Amino acid sequence: MRLGVAWALVDGQLVEGDVEVADGVVAKVGLPRARGRGIAAPGFVDLQVNGLDGIDLVDADLDGYRRVGELLLAGGVTAYLPTFVTGPEARVVAALRRLPRSLVAPHILGVHLEGPFLSPRRLGAHPARYRRDPNLDLLRRLLAAGSVRLVTLAPELPGARALIRELRERGVAVSLGHSDATTEEAHAAFDLGARSVTHLFNAMRPFHHRDPGLVGVALTRDDVVVQLILDGRHLAPETAAIAWRAARGRIALVSDATAAPGALTPDGALAGGAAPLLHCVRALHALGAPLAEALAAASAVPARVLGQGGLGRLSPGLPADVVVLSGELEVERVLVDGSERYSR
Ligand code: ZN
Repeated sequence: MRLGVAWALVDGQLVEGDVEVADGVVAKVGLPRARGRGIAAPGFVDLQVNGLDGIDLVDADLDGYRRVGELLLAGGVTAYLPTFVTGPEARVVAALRRLPRSLVAPHILGVHLEGPFLSPRRLGAHPARYRRDPNLDLLRRLLAAGSVRLVTLAPELPGARALIRELRERGVAVSLGHSDATTEEAHAAFDLGARSVTHLFNAMRPFHHRDPGLVGVALTRDDVVVQLILDGRHLAPETAAIAWRAARGRIALVSDATAAPGALTPDGALAGGAAPLLHCVRALHALGAPLAEALAAASAVPARVLGQGGLGRLSPGLPADVVVLSGELEVERVLVDGSERYSR
């Protein structure tokens, strides 16, 4: 099957020509180009999806996951991490056990646990009564309940370093966030193997010129991927521009999508993102990022956080998880493992 595109984002480069998909994988690129300005890009990888359309994944049944999956596919997302925020242990454990195994599109890569090991000073919308200081036994109970791929934690809390070590030994990615970490504490956590920051700038100690903290360390360390919510509400345009200029090539866009998009907590904190990932791609492009880099920020770079080779890339021989975009960057078609799962 030819995709009928004029361009494809192949291993991060825009390559002219059509794409052939066969037996579930990308077979050829650079074929004679189709008419129009269509672009084939790697399907988007969203590291932070709490829910959508009134459905919170922490409570969702299979039908709820199906509905959320349909909406994600329509936005070009072919793989994601259901994200569970700080909550009662029994609820989170039950949600981990309920994680569907039968759904193949979009791919459910495992869970992003955002909490409960967060700073009491930087909780944002997380409920304080379920916040916990780092506790290895609790972490192990959570890991035993279901497939966890990413954990957001505050590295300055007592015992956090042992948790980072445990997670890295088990191959679970660690992201720092909801944190009051100082410069030294942030460096120490990255040196232990944390590789990312969750929604940079939001819910962390603000940048100060003599104590740049987690923000300053993340923006200046080339080995750190910074996750951004570019929904037009979480960050001022200048703040987003600083991130883009400092962390070019290592920005992972996340939607932080929730059941009720763009909601505020009673004390005015933003609870979740207000825009789908495609909107964030357009926003990064509008900030000056070349299209290839804006698309990579929603595919190859988030895949790098998980350390999963092949994910988030479009290249001959790799699974055909592909989003076909119009010249105006609207989603036209979405393929998962070579099967069409959405068309406009
Ligand atoms: Zn958060």
